[in-house]
Amino acid sequence: MIAHELAHQWWGDYVTYIDWQNGWLNEGFATFFQQCWSQYHEGEDVYRYQRWKAMENLRKWTRQVGRTPMVTDRRNGYANVYGRGAITLHMIRYLLGEELFWRVMKKYAQKYALASVETNDFKRTIEDVTGVDLYWFFEQWIYGAGWPEFEVVKSWEAGTGECVLRVRQVQERDSLCGDFRVPLDIKFSGDGWSRLERVDIASADTTLRFRVNAQPLLVSFNHGLNAMCTVSFHKTTDELIYQLRHDDDFTRRIWAGRQLVARAGDKGVFRALAQAVRTDPFYGTKETLLDELAHVNVDSVSYRGALLALYRDLLDDAKPSIRARAVNGLSRYHDRTLRPLFLEKLNDSSYYVEAGALSALAQLDSLDAVPLLMEYLGKTSFRNVLQRTALSYLSSMRVLAALPEIRKLAQPGPSLVERRDAVMALSKFVDVRPDVIDDLSRILKEPSWRIRLVAMQALGKISSASAYRILEQARKYESHPLLKRWLDRVFKKQKK
Ligand SMILES: [Zn+2]
Repeated sequence: MIAHELAHQWWGDYVTYIDWQNGWLNEGFATFFQQCWSQYHEGEDVYRYQRWKAMENLRKWTRQVGRTPMVTDRRNGYANVYGRGAITLHMIRYLLGEELFWRVMKKYAQKYALASVETNDFKRTIEDVTGVDLYWFFEQWIYGAGWPEFEVVKSWEAGTGECVLRVRQVQERDSLCGDFRVPLDIKFSGDGWSRLERVDIASADTTLRFRVNAQPLLVSFNHGLNAMCTVSFHKTTDELIYQLRHDDDFTRRIWAGRQLVARAGDKGVFRALAQAVRTDPFYGTKETLLDELAHVNVDSVSYRGALLALYRDLLDDAKPSIRARAVNGLSRYHDRTLRPLFLEKLNDSSYYVEAGALSALAQLDSLDAVPLLMEYLGKTSFRNVLQRTALSYLSSMRVLAALPEIRKLAQPGPSLVERRDAVMALSKFVDVRPDVIDDLSRILKEPSWRIRLVAMQALGKISSASAYRILEQARKYESHPLLKRWLDRVFKKQKK
């Protein structure tokens, strides 16, 4: 965060984008430099993990909004500007190499010092410094949208000693997305040997042949995560387990692990996954595999007991993010014998672990958890996670005894975050106490537009005629453009 804001001194203050459409020249650059700071201080894996997460977020965002170019006058989003901007700069870095890339960045800063820039100025600087024409790159990654979806099939030709990869691009084509040209690395390895090959995939259906020492035990596609793409690579379970254990790029270990979660019912597969979660050298692998396992239904899987044992072992992991996942995993068992563990975790040094334990106890004890939850209404914590957990259970159980306290929290106070959670909680009481609508309608008249927006959102969740009427009135007097737009959207939806 600090690195990001500091980077804005160059990308934002010293060199400034000309308009919102070119926002990535500020935010993508600052995000990329923040990742470079991580690379320098925390190492290559953390740098790569941030890129991996940015790709995940971009996929999620695109699923909701649809393919959108990074430079666009359409509605754009954080994932498509900040994260994607940083991914794009990394791809250029990979393409040009260290020396040229940093020369470009230096020249770009010098040339446009104290001036405003558009994307083409950056492109022209690359061409001036390197002599490399990146027209195709900008067309596909900045003015186009989507990403390549690769389908890879591997075969081994013993006669010639060649490993053959057929790589097809199977993404849906539209006006924003065609066939991609993608430089990336493929790593082949076997017993005591390995070989890294850089390829440039330029067509929809490519056959690549590599003469290697022996039939490889591992073919790691997009090794190093230098290209944004999805990969479907047909591999046997044994090959995937081998990759999960031996790939030296953790993003490829995650990739293999994900395929294996779907096969975890097989004997041995879950054991391999559990071993990876316990012993992988990078915490990002553990986090991601646990997130994958969080989707399985613990009541129906054959490895129910083994997964429980895994979660129990992780309760004392050094990383709070792992302990929190372990607590959340255990809470899905609804097992009363785990109660003492959750009580103990209320004393964890991490707020997130504590909130997870509170949530687990609320699910186990239901109404009996009310006194504990009430106690938590008074606790402050990072991003308000403790109070938010308490509010969420107390309001969904409609505990009337908590209402006076929630009303107090919804009053004007020091923290908008706390108020926000309390105001949203108030709206859930409407069935038992219709007068909470009056509280919300009072908040609608406050001077801060942020809290007015929260009150509107809370009212929007209530399906009653009086809530509807209040919003209708608000539409007449509300002057803040963002809130006006929000109200317009609500009423447009209502009409449909
Ligand atoms: Zn920023």
